[in-house]
Amino acid sequence: LISLEGIHKAFGDLHVLKGCDLEVAAGEVTVLIGPSGSGKSTLLRCINQLEEPTAGRVRIAGVTQGYAEEPLADGRWQKLPSGQIARQRSRIGMVFQRFHLFPHMTALENVMEAPIQVLGRGKAEAKEAALALLDRVGLGDRADHYPSELSGGQQQRVAIARALAMEPELMLFDEPTSALDPELVAEVLSVLKELAEGGMTMIVVTHEMGFAREVADQVVFMDDGLIVEQGTPEQVIDHPGSERLKGFLASVL
Ligand code: ATP
Ligand code: MG
Repeated sequence: LISLEGIHKAFGDLHVLKGCDLEVAAGEVTVLIGPSGSGKSTLLRCINQLEEPTAGRVRIAGVTQGYAEEPLADGRWQKLPSGQIARQRSRIGMVFQRFHLFPHMTALENVMEAPIQVLGRGKAEAKEAALALLDRVGLGDRADHYPSELSGGQQQRVAIARALAMEPELMLFDEPTSALDPELVAEVLSVLKELAEGGMTMIVVTHEMGFAREVADQVVFMDDGLIVEQGTPEQVIDHPGSERLKGFLASVL
């Protein structure tokens, strides 16, 4: 479903991604690990076009992201207009470390907002779908609460429901539990696990190795802008090949 080919990203002189190749099959869960600054967030941001790769391409379901399907007569590839980029992006759900809920809206209104504004859904239809999603993340009884009235774990679950409301074909999670108090981590991970069991294609940046072991189809270790090791959780977590990965695992396990 997702194919990254030779992704480079530089910010000025800072070469953050140095040629990343990655394949993610539909329905698979990929856990992305690596030290701070290795480029994990930047890679996710390239996948959903929050950043434009300096070189390389991102294909989703065979469609090159950000560019027209065919080159121009002179061989150049033409960038898509912003409306079409927005449409590609709306197929990808993203959940961040911080929840970024709209503070002046209830949980229900947060989840209903994008389907109404972006997909043009009717209010009644959006409300019904949003209530079902809140129920799915275990917050059916919190629909009318404002973010300030919810715990961090509950807010993150609303953020997940809000992303799912756009009916994405894949979900990206960037350290979804690292801002949470330890006792709230499990409730968010169990929502992710259920999503995975439901067949959602997901890439999750997390250092929760128990989750990676239990849920991931593949684990990818990034270091200094490169994918250094990848494989099953067993291969990567239990049989690390490089000293870098051994050292990293020792620091998070
Ligand atoms: P962490 O585990 O701390 O979240 P990460 O692996 O997600 O780290 P990135 O956030 O992708 O790492 O950052 C990789 C490098 O790119 C860092 O050195 C960071 O300072 C730099 N960087 C990221 N975004 C930008 C930007 N918009 N402008 C300049 N430098 C950036
Ligand atoms: Mg990051």
